[in-house]
Amino acid sequence: MTAATYCKKCVLNEHYQNITFNKDGLCNFCESYSNQPPEIVLDDGILYNLKNEEKSKYDLLVAYSGGKDSTYVLYQLIKKYKLNVLSVTFDNHFISEMAMKNVDSVVKALELDHITIKYDFNLTRSIFNQSIQLAKNHKLQDMFRTFGILCWPCFMLITMATFNIATAYNIKYIAGGWSFGQLANLNRFSENHQNGFLSGRMVADLFVMPLYEQLTLKQRHPQIEIFKECRLKDELSIIPYFLFEQYDERNIFKTIQKELGWLRPEDTDGCSTNCLLNSYGNHLFEEVYHYNRYAEQLSRQIRIGQITREEALRAIENIGRQEIINDIKKCLERLN
Ligand SMILES: [Zn+2]
Repeated sequence: MTAATYCKKCVLNEHYQNITFNKDGLCNFCESYSNQPPEIVLDDGILYNLKNEEKSKYDLLVAYSGGKDSTYVLYQLIKKYKLNVLSVTFDNHFISEMAMKNVDSVVKALELDHITIKYDFNLTRSIFNQSIQLAKNHKLQDMFRTFGILCWPCFMLITMATFNIATAYNIKYIAGGWSFGQLANLNRFSENHQNGFLSGRMVADLFVMPLYEQLTLKQRHPQIEIFKECRLKDELSIIPYFLFEQYDERNIFKTIQKELGWLRPEDTDGCSTNCLLNSYGNHLFEEVYHYNRYAEQLSRQIRIGQITREEALRAIENIGRQEIINDIKKCLERLN
């Protein structure tokens, strides 16, 4: 196999969708970037006004993975915006032990009301395995490329779980720590957001139902059933927090380590701070689409000067480390 051609400035290669290279070896995304205005951060005034005094004890629900981004989002919403938060953690059976410890200590430190959702292992496994098959058969390609082969089914389940709980507690807003790259992906599909908030129904119809409709679920779970009704409620709004604050990874690590005693898990790869499935998902992604799952996000960070190309290449190389290959083997055994 011959090595793929890479852009000279970022880390995208020839297999990335709609990529072309100019005579200097620069990709079309890098070439057009310099002409674009910088990333826009929306006015955060709206976040101070999320108080929900009449209907619920909580102003909003935060989808809390225990990873660095959602930990930071929780901290900001509580300390800076003074909101009453109900935090919900979705356990996909592959969350790192350290991430779970972080969840516990952050919940204690912030005195949070907290719910953990864990669906039956066989149901979860069947959803992951069916998603892998769909991706390998090149179904729903745009979506799997955007969200990741194993992250998309997980996103689907998290959305279902949080919609159900928000509805049960009369909560109108759901916030999350979707990172810079994930956020750009969301925006690609949603030009019609209002003041940065996304309609819950749109998120469900665009990002959840296409996968859900392809799945054959022999085993039913009550919360998956209720979801179909919850998604039709127009009042649910999704808040991608990092539309309101410039994403700054160094500041995120600094804040949560200093203020909340958050510890960086050592049992996940360099790109995810909470999920053990991440390495396996990356491996599958590379196998099916022939480029690294993080190349898009890292390339964007290179272009705005947050990281160097060398740092991005190192992050990508990390994904092939021996201990990560071992993680993949473990995941394979549990999934099959
Ligand atoms: Zn490029």
